[in-house]
Amino acid sequence: MTKNRKILMLPGDGIGPEVMHEVARMIEWMNDRRGTAFDIQEGLVGGAAYDEHGTSLTDEIMADAMAADAVLFGSVGGPKWDNAPREERPENGLLRLRKEMDLFANLRPATVFDALADASTLKPEVVSGLDLMIVRELTAGVYFGAPRGTDMLPDGTRRGFDTEVYTEPEIQRVASVAFELARKRSNKVHSVEKANVMESGVFWREIVTALHKAEYSDVELHHMYADNCAMQLVRNPKQFDVIVTSNLFGDILSDCAAMLTGSLGMLPSASLGAPNAEGQRKALYEPVHGSAPDIAGQRLANPVAMMLSYAMMLRYSFDMKTEADLIEQAVKNVLASGLRTADIVQEKATRVSTDVMGDAVLREMGTLSA
Ligand code: NAD
Repeated sequence: MTKNRKILMLPGDGIGPEVMHEVARMIEWMNDRRGTAFDIQEGLVGGAAYDEHGTSLTDEIMADAMAADAVLFGSVGGPKWDNAPREERPENGLLRLRKEMDLFANLRPATVFDALADASTLKPEVVSGLDLMIVRELTAGVYFGAPRGTDMLPDGTRRGFDTEVYTEPEIQRVASVAFELARKRSNKVHSVEKANVMESGVFWREIVTALHKAEYSDVELHHMYADNCAMQLVRNPKQFDVIVTSNLFGDILSDCAAMLTGSLGMLPSASLGAPNAEGQRKALYEPVHGSAPDIAGQRLANPVAMMLSYAMMLRYSFDMKTEADLIEQAVKNVLASGLRTADIVQEKATRVSTDVMGDAVLREMGTLSA
């Protein structure tokens, strides 16, 4: 008998517990109907953990995350903790998880569901059917490079500085994730840097090119400067399949790509670490949105980003393509039927609450698998 998979569920603050509740129902459904055999353990993170334990992430929960097969994360933060000590701010719980699990590859898909093509600020024909994936390097680059700081030059001029730095293995491992993802999608990778003006960009391009030649020559590879990529994302986003880039450029380009889809409440993400001896990666799945204190507790939150994060977990941590497809198709059908949470409501659509949206997606999953 195969052993049950261990999922650590960390709902967090604000709308985190509300959207996670809908996913908990889905997991139960999958266990009953599809025999997925997931054991769920729940824990506190962020402000909720601070209130209970005086820290945004206890060592016990950190150890549970290291031992889990995957972590499902809601969202953290809110005005209640604005005056918490800096080192115990809710966001630090998430940063610690990312750091200690060494989650170096951040995957952010930008998918436009046909029913929502009108919700984008771009013309529907530019975005309809869009399906691209940004792979952002998450644990190195200028956000972590040394030296960094402020000092004074001998002539008394003050200056501030950071260092963009990447080692060969850091580039290779994130590029490998991108090439492997592309093989399961449309087999095309755009590697993005600024090789025209940055030494680290020249180096990035050299390492990606060599890795491609050695191991992934079946994948179509393009190199693109980051400024051009920003422009191409709004001009013709459908030319992209997988984009791989550094921490800084990925931060900016993934937010730009996010807006192509219209709503924060629709966007999932995954953060992956290195594979162990069995090929299993540490992984954390979370919606892109925050804790949305302005709508928390009012049954207004869109649970779709959290649901799609769970679908990513099934796809990338457990190779359960059929089950991931089932969730994504059910979401598509429910949106096409005209049901919408407040953030994506349109003319002629029916406005529903978080839990009614959850009911509808579950019901559709049942219909699709009947
Ligand atoms: P936010 O993403 O929480 O909210 C931005 C806007 O989008 C709000 O108007 C909100 O109501 C709306 N929104 C977000 N998710 C939604 C959903 N699922 N359904 C419907 N509407 C949704 O960003 P913010 O307001 O800048 O930050 C609020 C708090 O969240 C802050 O404390 C911030 O630090 C934290 N935050 C946490 C994370 C995380 O946990 N990963 C990410 C971003 C922000």
